[in-house]
Amino acid sequence: MKINKIRAAGFAACLALLLPGCASTAELSGTAQLFAMDTVMLITAYGGRYEAGLDAAEAVISDLDAKFTPNGAASDIHAINEGAGASVPVSEDTLNVLSAASEWYRSSNGAFDPTTYPLTRLWGFDTDNPGVPSADRLSETLKHVGFSAVSYGDGEASIPEGYGLDFGAIAKGYASEKAVRAMRDAGADAGIVSLGGNVEAFGTKPDGSLWSVAVQDPVDTGSYVGKLFIPGGAVVTSGNYQRYFTQNGVRYCHIIDPGTGYPVRNGLLSVTIVCENGTKADALSTALFVMGEGGALRYYRDNGGFEMVIITDDGRVVVTPGVSGSFEESGEGWTYAYPDAQ
Ligand code: AMP
Ligand code: MG
Repeated sequence: MKINKIRAAGFAACLALLLPGCASTAELSGTAQLFAMDTVMLITAYGGRYEAGLDAAEAVISDLDAKFTPNGAASDIHAINEGAGASVPVSEDTLNVLSAASEWYRSSNGAFDPTTYPLTRLWGFDTDNPGVPSADRLSETLKHVGFSAVSYGDGEASIPEGYGLDFGAIAKGYASEKAVRAMRDAGADAGIVSLGGNVEAFGTKPDGSLWSVAVQDPVDTGSYVGKLFIPGGAVVTSGNYQRYFTQNGVRYCHIIDPGTGYPVRNGLLSVTIVCENGTKADALSTALFVMGEGGALRYYRDNGGFEMVIITDDGRVVVTPGVSGSFEESGEGWTYAYPDAQ
């Protein structure tokens, strides 16, 4: 649900302004801020049609927020969960996300699984009072987890009774991808959306510089461990610091290992994925966070098609070869590692 909206317009500093024959509209830009999908979102568009770009991106995000929110009359996810055991009509967007989810569920060997929702609820991550559940309730709930039980197609979707669906690990990525496409279609020359830990950019900025995306310091979250410089595409982070509770000195984070039913505790603080689109980056950041450092690097070597920055609880920042030249270190107290491709 959108609770506020702030707009600012400006003229980006541009050498081209001084050059004869340069269209002045090319330097126009604007930024919009909104609150949706439980997070503050920033959208910036460039070019003469920047305003139309902002409008289009905002409309896409608000629409997807309504469709994917766990509660709400217009939500497909709510309808699927409430109607468990029967097929319910759903939008094309929901079918698109289910199809992408199925691909990443299979590819990650079940590490990415949007049917972890009953576990998220059991641990109380959707409440103000999370806590460690009993072993009995955990093993009972685990029986109702597994994406292969989800059916979808022909405008409908269904889950078995006792199951639950949650797009929390992929919705923002799908939204950034669709918002960027909408900005481009609306005629913006370039743009960037920042939806919580999800960033996606397209086009060339008026000053020709690369897009710079900071990788947050998971310990000192007001700081960052470095910056990535990309020509466009998505940068998405999953981390144990984004939502968690502490019980008896143990931190339990909101990303759940579908194999055990427990919040992931594998020595990783965050995984940042860099690739061509937000949906893939969002699904992979969650999946590779579940896999742990060894599993994530193995998956990277076996599959490719993306780059990543892994941050571990023993103070290492591991940057894969395809972005090592585009990464600028800036943190204190971290050790930076650049493993070879093989
Ligand atoms: P992200 O921040 O993209 O990694 O997504 C984390 C969110 O996705 C959690 O807050 C849950 O709503 C949901 N989730 C938790 N564990 C998983 C998992 N293993 N696969 C898919 N979704 C998950
Ligand atoms: Mg994700």
